[in-house]
Amino acid sequence: MRKRFGQHFLVDRHFIGRIVAAIDPRPGDAMVEIGPGLGALTAPLVDRLAHLHAVEIDRDLAARLAERFPAERLTVHVGDVLAFDFASLPERLRVVGNLPYNISTPLLFRLAGFAARLADCTFMLQREVVDRMVAAPATADYGRLSVMLQHRFAMTKLFDVPPGAFRPRPKVDSAVVRMVPRPADELGLHDPALFAAIVAAAFGQRRKTLRNALSRIVGTGTMERAGIDPGARGETLPVADFVRLANAATAEPRGGAGSPG
Ligand code: SAM
Repeated sequence: MRKRFGQHFLVDRHFIGRIVAAIDPRPGDAMVEIGPGLGALTAPLVDRLAHLHAVEIDRDLAARLAERFPAERLTVHVGDVLAFDFASLPERLRVVGNLPYNISTPLLFRLAGFAARLADCTFMLQREVVDRMVAAPATADYGRLSVMLQHRFAMTKLFDVPPGAFRPRPKVDSAVVRMVPRPADELGLHDPALFAAIVAAAFGQRRKTLRNALSRIVGTGTMERAGIDPGARGETLPVADFVRLANAATAEPRGGAGSPG
């Protein structure tokens, strides 16, 4: 087991079956599995698909998988998924995996950048991360991850998976989540970089009002014209309000306190 690669392998047949049923692979699907490891999910996926791609950083595990499955059924890409070019695989790509938890947040942000090419994602993650992904405004779990991902994906928490389903046992509970990209024409965002900067600033200091947290990026006049109370805190703002605020800020020349983050 290589700790630095977050290797906790699924061994419980019940949960392996439930995850594969949730993925519901169809023979013609274009699919990539992140972190196939010893192949707990890989084997049942290869059984049901014409072909599967997998991205695995551990050379020894990748070699074992390449020996076990014929190349026409499984392509193993050896390397770091954070550097993997998902655009090199077919469109309408389905992405699945029991993710290495230490890289889950940067991986989710990276996948958001490829969302227009994806059909869906089904991931097992640390349960706390899934709770943050699907959190509603004004709850303790609602934060930057919730807003950035909910803007780009419709997300559903499917079920929890206990530590006993893995070898070695992780210290944390896990959960399975499904993510379906929202159609690009529904996003309605004029400047994604400004949106990202506003969301990051709004949650940078959670207890601050928007007036203070965003003082360097958005003036209170713009907030008021967007129908947003400058005295509110970012943690209470629904995703649609962040979009409206970012679009209002894009539409207006910015001056005064500073440049856009
Ligand atoms: N899918 C297997 C299972 O369910 O039993 C293994 C899951 S284990 C939690 C995570 C897997 O991701 C390991 O095989 C690990 O080597 C691999 N991994 C870790 N970091 C990675 C990275 N940056 N890029 C690609 N694979 C990675």
